[in-house]
Amino acid sequence: MDLIQVYTDKCTLCGLCVDVCPSYDTVDVIPSLCDYIESGGKAEEDKPLEYDIRLCYTCNVCTVTCPEDLGIRKLISASREKRTGIHGATEEQGLVDPFSDNNLYTKIGEWEEPVAFQNEGKKSKVVYFPGCAASCMNKVVGKSTVKALEAAGVDYSVMSGIDYCCGSVSAGAGNTKPLEKLGQRNIDEINARGSDILITTCPGCYRAFKLLYPQRFENLNFEVLQSSEYFARLLKEGKLNFKRDMGEYFGIGEKLNIFYQDPCHLTRAAGIYEEPRRVLSAIPGAKLVNPTPENSVCCGFGGGVRTSFPKKSVSQAAGVHKYAKSLGSDIIITNCGGCMKNIIEGGYTAKKGLNESECDSLPVYDLAEFISLACGAEPTERDDLKLIYLSNKALQECLTHYDYAPFDELAADYDPDLK
Ligand code: SF4
Ligand code: SF4
Repeated sequence: MDLIQVYTDKCTLCGLCVDVCPSYDTVDVIPSLCDYIESGGKAEEDKPLEYDIRLCYTCNVCTVTCPEDLGIRKLISASREKRTGIHGATEEQGLVDPFSDNNLYTKIGEWEEPVAFQNEGKKSKVVYFPGCAASCMNKVVGKSTVKALEAAGVDYSVMSGIDYCCGSVSAGAGNTKPLEKLGQRNIDEINARGSDILITTCPGCYRAFKLLYPQRFENLNFEVLQSSEYFARLLKEGKLNFKRDMGEYFGIGEKLNIFYQDPCHLTRAAGIYEEPRRVLSAIPGAKLVNPTPENSVCCGFGGGVRTSFPKKSVSQAAGVHKYAKSLGSDIIITNCGGCMKNIIEGGYTAKKGLNESECDSLPVYDLAEFISLACGAEPTERDDLKLIYLSNKALQECLTHYDYAPFDELAADYDPDLK
C-alpha cells in the first residue's frame, strides 16, 4: 500500500511519537509531510516544506513508540528522497557520497592516510567490511576489530575504504545513487572471496547488507552479522579468551561500571542490543549499569544533524555523559564509530563549557577496542582530539557554511601553534 494511504488509514494523530521525539514538537508535522510527499510531481513552490526535515536524527524512537508502527521518521525519509529528486543532491549529501568532490572521508584522507589493513583481497571464510567511517575517520574501530578477530584466531579478510562504500548513509540522506551503483559490486566481491560470513561494524553498513541490498540485488550467498553478533557467537563457541580483569586494568577497586550506548540504528532499527551486552557481561571485572536498552537516547550524530546543526548535535551527545554518570558509570562503551566520535566531542565541549550541557565527561571506548583489551591485546593507538579536530576541519572545508563555534578552541587545543 502507498505510504500516504497507510498514514491516512492508520495514523490517529495521537501525538505519542511527538512526545518522545527530540526534534519535532507538534503532531502537525505528520499531515504536513504527507501533503508534501503527496504533491508528487508538483514544483516545491506549490507545496513548500513547513518543517525542517534536516532536524531528524533518524533515531527511530518515534517508530517504536507508535502503536501503529508508523512514527515521523518514515515520512522524513520519503520527504528527503523527494527533495533530492526535485533539487538534486545537496552539499551535505555530498559528504557521504563516494563519487562527490566534497566527500568527507576523501578530505580527511588528504591529511591522514586511511587504515592500511592486512588481509585485503585474500580469500577467507569471514570478510570484515569496516566502511568509510572505520577506515578513514574513526580508525580505532577498524584497528580494534581486526585485533579482536586475531585474538580469537579468525581467518578473515578486509574490504576497506571509500572504494567499498556501502551507500547506505547516502541513501539515508536521500541520495540512493551510490547504493544502486555499488551494491551488486560489493556483493560480487564477497562471493568471489568464497566467504560465508560478512561482518560490519558501522550500523549503516549493516543496514545496507541486511536490509537494503536484499531488496535490490542478487546472490547474497553469505550471512550478514554486526560485529557484536559475531563476537557473541565467538564467545559461545569458546573462542574469546579473556585474559585481563578490566576493573584492575582501569585501576578501579572492584568492578568497572560500564554504560553501553545503544546506537539507534542497531538497537531500535535492527533489534541488536542483547549481543553486545552478553559479551560485555562475560568480561572479567566488568559490570553493566544498563543491562537493557530502556531509556536509551540518540547520541546526536545521526541523520545528518551533526552536519547541519552541530551545536544541537554535540549538546545531545553531552547528555549521554550526564545520563551515564547519573547511573554511576566509570566508562561509556559505544558500538558505532560515529556515535563514539560524537560522544567524545560532546564530552570535550561540555567539559569546556562550549555547549548547552555543561558536565564532566567520561572515557569513551569502542566495543571491539574494549574486547581486544580484555583479550590481552596492546591498547589501540588513538588520539581523540585529532579525531574530532580532523572531522571538523573536513566539514569546514567541504561545506560553504559550517557554523561551529567551538572549532577555534578545538584547533588551538589540538595544535598549540594555531593559537
Ligand atoms: S504516527 Fe503513530 S504515534 Fe504518531 S500520531 Fe500517528 S498514530 Fe500516533
Ligand atoms: S527518528 Fe527520532 S528525531 Fe526523527 S522524527 Fe523520529 S523521534 Fe524524531
